[in-house]
Amino acid sequence: MYDFIVVGLGVAGWSLLQVLEENHQNFVVFDNNSQQSTRIAGGMYNPVILKRFTPAWQAHQMLPYALLQFKKAELDFDKQYIFELDIYRKLTGVEEQNNWIVASDKPVLKSYMKEISFDPVPGIKADFGFGILQGTGIVNVTQLLNDVSIKFKNTGKLYTETFDYEALKIYDQYVQYKDIKAKKIVFAEGFGIKNNPFFKDLPLMGTKGEMLIIETDIEIPHIIKSNVFIAPNVAKKGQYYVGATYNWQDKTNEPTIEAREHLVEKLKQLLQVPFNIVLQKAGIRPTVKDRRPLVGKHPVYKNLAVLNGMGTRGVILAPTMAKQLFQHLTFDLPLMKEVDIKRFL
Ligand SMILES: Cc1cc2nc3c(=O)[nH]c(=O)nc-3n(C[C@H](O)[C@H](O)[C@H](O)COP(=O)(O)OP(=O)(O)OC[C@H]3O[C@@H](n4cnc5c(N)ncnc54)[C@H](O)[C@@H]3O)c2cc1C
Repeated sequence: MYDFIVVGLGVAGWSLLQVLEENHQNFVVFDNNSQQSTRIAGGMYNPVILKRFTPAWQAHQMLPYALLQFKKAELDFDKQYIFELDIYRKLTGVEEQNNWIVASDKPVLKSYMKEISFDPVPGIKADFGFGILQGTGIVNVTQLLNDVSIKFKNTGKLYTETFDYEALKIYDQYVQYKDIKAKKIVFAEGFGIKNNPFFKDLPLMGTKGEMLIIETDIEIPHIIKSNVFIAPNVAKKGQYYVGATYNWQDKTNEPTIEAREHLVEKLKQLLQVPFNIVLQKAGIRPTVKDRRPLVGKHPVYKNLAVLNGMGTRGVILAPTMAKQLFQHLTFDLPLMKEVDIKRFL
C-alpha cells in the first residue's frame, strides 16, 4: 500500500512530492499535461505588489522556505534552478517616486525596495528612473518539472495519464484506484479541479494568462516592470519573457491574437529597440475568489485532500502550502485558517 497518490505535477504537486520524499513516504503521481500554468509561467518570485507598493500576502514569510526547497532540488539534480535577479520598476512620475520612497521605508518592504536609480538600462527609456527591488528573481520551474518528470518516470512513480475520478474507490482507511491502494490521495490539478467531482464546487475562478518569448540584440540584465514585465529567459541567452495578460472569461490554454497584439503594443511603449517574437504561451492561473490558496481535507472523505489555488504566486506559496498540508494530514496540525477550505464549506 502506498502512503499517497498525488494527482497533478505542477509546482503544487511537485512541492508536495518534495515533502513526501523528505518524510520517506511512498507515493505515485498522475499527470496528463492538460494544464500548463506552471510550465509556461515565468517563474518569478517577488514579494511586493508592484502596482500599489504593498507586501503580497505572506510572501515575505514564505519565500525563504520556497527558496530552500528549490535549492534542495538544485542539489538533487546538480542544476541551477534559482536565478537571483533585481527587478527594475519603471517609475511614471514624481508622485510614484514619492510613493516609492515612502513605501521603501516600511517594515517588510524595506527588505526588498531599494534606491531609485537613474542609471541607463539598455533599450529602455525611463525619465523618472527605476525603483530597484532586490531579493527577487526567477525559478526555472519548467526545467525543474521536466527533470522531476524524467526522474519519477524512470522510477515508475509517474503515470502520464488522465486520472479517472470515477475509478476511485474510497474506504475508511484507504483509497483504491484501479490496482493502486494508498492511505491518502491529494488533488493538485490547478484549473483541472473543475473536472474533479470531490472539489469542483470550491470557488476557484481561473485567470488565463498569456506570455511572449522575444529575441532582441541588446542585453537586459534585470527584470523590468512597467505596464508589462520583461524578464530574461534564464534557459536561453538573448531571449526574454514578456507578459502577462489577465483574462477572466476565456478558460482555454490556446494562445490568442488579441493577447499577442496587446502585449506587443505595451512592449513597443517600453522597449526602444527591434525585437522578434519567438513563441507565445497561454495557461490558466488557479485563482480563487478570496485570493488565498485552497488547502485541506474533504468534508466527508477524510483521506481525500486538495492542494490548489496558488493564484499568481505559485513559486512562493506552493512549498509552504504543501508542507502545511502534509503536517495536517499526518500529524493533525491545524492549517492556517485563511487557506483552509473549511472557510467555504
Ligand atoms: C502567464 C502566467 C504567468 C505566471 N507567472 C508566474 C510567476 O512569474 N511567478 C509565479 O509564482 N507564478 C506565476 N504564475 C502562476 C503560477 O503559474 C501558478 O500559481 C502555478 O503554476 C499553479 O500551480 P499548480 O501546480 O497548482 O497548477 P498547474 O501548474 O496547472 O498544474 C496542475 C497539473 O495537474 C495536471 N492535471 C490536471 N487534471 C488532471 C487529471 N485529471 N489527471 C492528471 N493530471 C491532471 C495538469 O496537467 C497540470 O500538470 C503564472 C501563471 C501564468 C498563466
